[in-house]
Amino acid sequence: MQVEATDSVGVDADRLQNWKRLVYLVALAAGVAIFLLSWVIRTPGDPFLAYLYPLFAGVLVVLFLAVWRAPQALPRLEGWMLGLVASMILSRLAWHFHAGGSLEEHLLVLAGGHYWAVGIVILAAFVMLEHRRGLWAGLAILAIATLIAVTGVAGEWLRGELSREAIVYLLRIHLFLAILLALASVATSMRDTVKDALVRSEALEQAARTDPLTGLANRRAAESTLQRQAASVRRYGLPVSVIGMDIDHFKAVNDTHGHAMGDAVIAGVARLLRDSVREPDFVARWGGEEFLIVAPEIAGEPSVQLAERCRQAIAERPIAGVPVTASFGVTTFGPQDSLDSVLRRADDMMYRAKQEGRDRVFYSPEDSA
Ligand code: GH3
Ligand code: MG
Ligand code: MG
Repeated sequence: MQVEATDSVGVDADRLQNWKRLVYLVALAAGVAIFLLSWVIRTPGDPFLAYLYPLFAGVLVVLFLAVWRAPQALPRLEGWMLGLVASMILSRLAWHFHAGGSLEEHLLVLAGGHYWAVGIVILAAFVMLEHRRGLWAGLAILAIATLIAVTGVAGEWLRGELSREAIVYLLRIHLFLAILLALASVATSMRDTVKDALVRSEALEQAARTDPLTGLANRRAAESTLQRQAASVRRYGLPVSVIGMDIDHFKAVNDTHGHAMGDAVIAGVARLLRDSVREPDFVARWGGEEFLIVAPEIAGEPSVQLAERCRQAIAERPIAGVPVTASFGVTTFGPQDSLDSVLRRADDMMYRAKQEGRDRVFYSPEDSA
């Protein structure tokens, strides 16, 4: 059976995931290039860069291969990537503040490169994680960066080796990072709210188109499918058949076995219909104990065979312990047909089937209308 409502949020999520993966691959490749280039053009006397950058580049290569080879593990890899990249950048920041000689000399590289890198991992935290976890990760990264700066500056300040300008400079950078974090937080909070609303509205729409007892499409969904099929009949002239069906003597089922058993029979009939149709066919609960099948691409004999298959499946054995039969009216959409005319013809045929003794299929071609 054709699934009525398309899972467009799901499809978008897949596309987004592919985009994310591509962005990660590009970013990881760029990271490897930056580490290696920095290593090649390094000034002597920087052991951190000389020994650790090749290691960092190696870690990024491993992450690159993981993202490349195991796209399904992406959600788990995101946490690892963020943690590893943030540690690399923060460890280099710590080295600048605590081990790399005079801080004044480092301020330019810090502002020009490393604080940008810190800003990027803060943003990445919000991209990789949902809003709440992204906020915690971003705050943690900013807090560690601040702690590194404060402890580094305190030492130099006590030794009287740091100018007031340098401190103002660092304060400005941290203010910028805090603003960046706040903006990213607001933006991702909005992103997550919109995403939740979309998922909720899609679930509501799905519920509005589904019959709760049988899980089939309801009359509203059936009408919109019929409208669509009518349009494609008019435009492309493809055959589309419509099968109306009504359970025989259903009042007696309710009267004899009770309403709850009646419901169980309706659900059982729905299951049989769903299992009896082909992949492109659409089954709906039209109302009460009436069902509708829309069968694209077939007309005439094959549509009668389809109805006959459904009829036999129902009559074959008791449903929920109750022997049941049903009557079917089959017709084919004509180019002149309106929704009403086609439904009326299917209905007329169904009542013919009732009159002729029930548990049978009647067919009317389009041109007999
Ligand atoms: P016929 O062979 O002529 O179709 O006889 P029938 O008794 O089936 O007549 P009809 O189709 O007019 O009756 C439909 C009955 O189905 C009436 C109503 O009580 C019952 N019914 C409709 N919806 C439900 C439902 O959701 N659950 C239950 N248990 N019964 C329902
Ligand atoms: Mg009825
Ligand atoms: Mg009936």
